[in-house]
Amino acid sequence: MSIRFFCEKCNKALEVDDSDANGKVICFYCKEAVSVPSESTAELVKEGEVRAVNLPKRSALWGVVGLICGLLVAGIIGGMIVWVISTTALPMSRDPEFAKLSQTDQQAKMKAAIKTFSEERPVIQKAPMVLLGLSTLGVIFSVIGLVKNSGRKGAIVGIIICGAYVGLALAGMLRS
Ligand SMILES: [Zn+2]
Repeated sequence: MSIRFFCEKCNKALEVDDSDANGKVICFYCKEAVSVPSESTAELVKEGEVRAVNLPKRSALWGVVGLICGLLVAGIIGGMIVWVISTTALPMSRDPEFAKLSQTDQQAKMKAAIKTFSEERPVIQKAPMVLLGLSTLGVIFSVIGLVKNSGRKGAIVGIIICGAYVGLALAGMLRS
């Protein structure tokens, strides 16, 4: 079965397979993307009249890569926070002696413990640079995805996460 209709842009008669009903195709004549009605609206098209060209399937590659970078960045940051807190601050807060300290002393002690913990682990020292590199790539891939309309949704999430990290890292560098 086929659907016959007039191109909404150039008014030429088009014929497409009914599997394209309610979808979009590229007009054979004007090369614009046009909507296909759910059923034929053009009775005048003769059998075998020119068919519209199916829209090429868009690849979502760039947006997906940008999204993966963003999820990796968020995952690494989240994982490290959980790791550091669960091995420093959490055991400390269970210590009855610690509970007796004033709030300012508690905060200072926790900060010191986290600092020592980080300094002893090269992985934590290197993480900011790795994250910055990964985020920068994520932003680049996502922007390509947006420009090329390749995986728009993933690209937007990628830009939000990676862009936020790049922004925070740059702000931190400027401050120090
Ligand atoms: Zn047209």
